[in-house]
Amino acid sequence: MMAAVACADTGDSVILLEKNEKLGKKVFITGKGRCNVTNACDRDAFFSHVVSNPKFLYSAYSQFDNEALMEFIEANGTALKVERGNRVFPVSDHSYDIIDAFKRALSKRKVDVRLHCEVKDILTEEYVDPEDKKAPSKIIKGVKLSSGEILSADKVIVATGGVSYPSTGSTGDGYDFASKTGHKLVASKPALVPFTTKEEWVTKLQGLTLKNVKLSLHINDKCVYSEQGELLFTHFGISGPLALTASSYYAKADEIKSAYVYLDLKPALSNDEFDKRLIREFENGNRKEFKNILGELYPQKLASLVCDITGLDPYKRCNEISGAERKTLLKFTKEMKITITGTRDFNEAIITHGGVSVKDINPKTMESKLVRNLYFAGEVLDLDAHTGGFNLQIAFSTGYLAGKSGYES
Ligand SMILES: Cc1cc2nc3c(=O)[nH]c(=O)nc-3n(C[C@H](O)[C@H](O)[C@H](O)COP(=O)(O)OP(=O)(O)OC[C@H]3O[C@@H](n4cnc5c(N)ncnc54)[C@H](O)[C@@H]3O)c2cc1C
Repeated sequence: MMAAVACADTGDSVILLEKNEKLGKKVFITGKGRCNVTNACDRDAFFSHVVSNPKFLYSAYSQFDNEALMEFIEANGTALKVERGNRVFPVSDHSYDIIDAFKRALSKRKVDVRLHCEVKDILTEEYVDPEDKKAPSKIIKGVKLSSGEILSADKVIVATGGVSYPSTGSTGDGYDFASKTGHKLVASKPALVPFTTKEEWVTKLQGLTLKNVKLSLHINDKCVYSEQGELLFTHFGISGPLALTASSYYAKADEIKSAYVYLDLKPALSNDEFDKRLIREFENGNRKEFKNILGELYPQKLASLVCDITGLDPYKRCNEISGAERKTLLKFTKEMKITITGTRDFNEAIITHGGVSVKDINPKTMESKLVRNLYFAGEVLDLDAHTGGFNLQIAFSTGYLAGKSGYES
C-alpha cells in the first residue's frame, strides 16, 4: 500500500494486486487489533531495535522515518497517539483506521486496486545495457496472474510479506519470485515467537507471568541476548515479551548445538544480597518446614514446585538447612536453567527471519541488482526487528523508497 502510494506520487499509473478479498489483512491483526504502527523513538534507538541488516535500512529510513509516517497517516485522516515505550497507535485503538488512512491515500491517487488478484509469476526478458556492462542482464516485463492474465509493466514492486501467519495472505510467494529470477534467499525461520522447552516442570508453571526477571539466551555456550522484563510460562514452554525478543536472536543463529535460557528471578539483588535474604528468611522461619517459607520468596505457583525442581527436602526445618542447600536455592533463583528445544511455528510467529537476501538489493532504491526495474519491499526482505512498531516501520520505509525510486524504460 505504501509502495503504491509513493509510486503514484511520481506520476506513474499504478496497479496494486492483492490476492485477498481486502487490503491489509495482516495490518488488521497487528498490535492485538490496535496496530502499533511505528515507534516514536529517535534514530539511534530505532536502529538498535533492528535485528537483521540494520545498515541496509539507513537510506530507506532517512527518506521515510517514523515522523514522516506519522505525518502521512494523520494527513490521511487517522489521528495517532504515543503510548508506553514510544509505541504509536491510532487514537481510536482500531487497526482498521490505519488501513483506512492508506485506502484514502490510494484512492486520492487513483491507484487501481485489484482484489482477489493473485500474482503467479514475475515476467522478465534479457537486457543488455550498452553503456554499463555490469548492469543486470534482465529487465522486468510484467506479471502473470493466477487467472492466466498477463499485465505488462515498466516497474514491479514485490511486497508480498514473509511466511508468518500465512492465513493473512503472506505465504512466501515473493520468495519464489525472487529465487526464480536468480536472487539468493536467506533461510526463513519463525521469529518473535514463543520457545518450546524440554523440562517438564516448565509446563507445570503454565499461566504464570514473571515480571522484572532477567532472561539470558545462550547458544552454543555463548550469551547472545540478555534483557530484563516479563516472561510467561505456557503449556509448551515460554512466551511473553522477553521470550519473543530472544527468539529473534535464536532465529539469527546459524548452527545451534545447544540452547539454554537462564533466568534471574531476582535481578535487583546480587548473589550475595540474595544469599543474605535467604539466611534472614531461614532465621525467621526457624522451626517451620522449608516448604512453608517458600511463599515469601516466590509466586505461589512456583513456590509449590521449588522442591520438585531442586530436589530439596520440603519438610526440613528452616534452621537445619545447610549451606550447600542454600547454594542450590541460590542457583535456582539466580540461574534457573531452561533447555530450549525449538520455537513454535510460523502460524504463531509475529515475523519471519530471513527472506530475500539484501545483498541482491540496492539499499538506496530497493531495486534488484539482478533484474532491472524489479523492486522488493517489506518483510519479504531479510529484515526483522523487535516488537514495538519497528517491523511495520521497516515495511513502510522500504515500501516508500521502492515506490518513489525511478525507473528507466
Ligand atoms: C499477529 C501479528 C501482530 C503484529 N503486530 C505488529 C505491530 O503491532 N507492529 C509492527 O510493527 N509489526 C507487527 N507485526 C508485523 C507486521 O505486521 C509485518 O511485519 C508487516 O505487516 C509486513 O508488511 P508487508 O507489507 O511486508 O507484508 P504483509 O503485511 O504480509 O502483506 C503482504 C500482502 O501481500 C499479499 N500477497 C502475498 N502474495 C501475493 C501474491 N502472490 N499475489 C497478490 N498478493 C499477494 C498478501 O495477501 C498480503 O496482503 C505483527 C505481525 C503479526 C503476525
